[in-house]
Amino acid sequence: MVTENTEEYLEAIWVIGEDKSRVRIIDLAEYLNIKPPSAFEKVKKLEKEKLITYDKTEGIKFTEKGEKRGKQIIRAHRILESLFSYLEISEEDMEKLSCACEHVREETVDKICTFLNHPERCPHGKRIPRGECCKNI
Ligand SMILES: [Zn+2]
Ligand SMILES: [Zn+2]
Repeated sequence: MVTENTEEYLEAIWVIGEDKSRVRIIDLAEYLNIKPPSAFEKVKKLEKEKLITYDKTEGIKFTEKGEKRGKQIIRAHRILESLFSYLEISEEDMEKLSCACEHVREETVDKICTFLNHPERCPHGKRIPRGECCKNI
């Protein structure tokens, strides 16, 4: 899978960062199934857009802006997974639907989150970042 999509990169960086304290170019390339030079090129672009910083020893780190965007995507993806799992949609379709729908607005995600009673984890046991709607519970 070759992707140019910025949000997919942010999503990948987020997921890798959940398991590793340092996100390296090689981890990102492996995760996205692309060659390290392509990952490096994209990392440089994301750095230019001020979404991340990259340093050989520190690895890839989110800026405040990048983290906010990454969190939104991950949250949408996992809330949608929870919804589709609730509807007993197959794992395969759940993944397709979650990826296709993850660019919906935050308010929409919050509505689904509220409907599901603010789940803390997705069906795969991954933590769902909290949203505005989760603050008063
Ligand atoms: Zn999941
Ligand atoms: Zn919520």
